[in-house]
Amino acid sequence: MIHEIDRALSDWTPELRSVRIKLGLPELLAQLGEEGAELSQAALKMRRVLDKHNPTPVTLNEAEANLAEEFADVLVCMMAVGISPDEVAKIIRRKIPRWVDRLDVWEEV
Ligand SMILES: [Mg+2]
Repeated sequence: MIHEIDRALSDWTPELRSVRIKLGLPELLAQLGEEGAELSQAALKMRRVLDKHNPTPVTLNEAEANLAEEFADVLVCMMAVGISPDEVAKIIRRKIPRWVDRLDVWEEV
């Protein structure tokens, strides 16, 4: 799955570079903020669908599809901004074990 994302981003690297040149960093950061907010809304909507406490006409399939789309929007903006995938990979390697450790500590309490 990750390889497919990597390949899709690599296939469109020149186009993303031209988007960055045309729009400029400040505008890309504004779009990233917008897409990040949409990702947040998609996550909250899917939680509401799963929770069923506050009914919504949105189906689980629709909520999942929207979450995936907004994640893709954020990822594309991040790449257009020029975030280093190597740096992101390092952060992921640091954060996942820390998260697991915190959960282990929480379970022990
Ligand atoms: Mg979006």
